[in-house]
Amino acid sequence: MFCKNCGSQLDDRAVICPHCGVPTDNYYANGNNRNCGNGYGGPAADDAPSAGFAVLGFFFPIVGLILYLVWQQTYPLRARSAGKGALISVIVSVSLSVVIVIIAFCVAGFAYAAGNVYY
Ligand SMILES: [Zn+2]
Repeated sequence: MFCKNCGSQLDDRAVICPHCGVPTDNYYANGNNRNCGNGYGGPAADDAPSAGFAVLGFFFPIVGLILYLVWQQTYPLRARSAGKGALISVIVSVSLSVVIVIIAFCVAGFAYAAGNVYY
């Protein structure tokens, strides 16, 4: 990536530009205070974690994922909320289907065992 202040090329993981000392997007992404008002083009000022978008992401994981990708740069906190909702949704549905498969196997197994006993 490139420094937003002086434009020099930076390591993608750099948190502060070694040339001009200005924090990069990584600095803000790591949860540092963004209210310094330095105007260096960091994330939007109205960014905030949003329970609403987390719920949206939970019920519509695809939407949550898209919002996460779209907002990653401009609204990282909001994006994280939407992404977290989508992630939880995916985890819940995966574990639910695992549980359902296990139950199905148990039921089938019991039915088979019961069949062997009674015939
Ligand atoms: Zn710089």
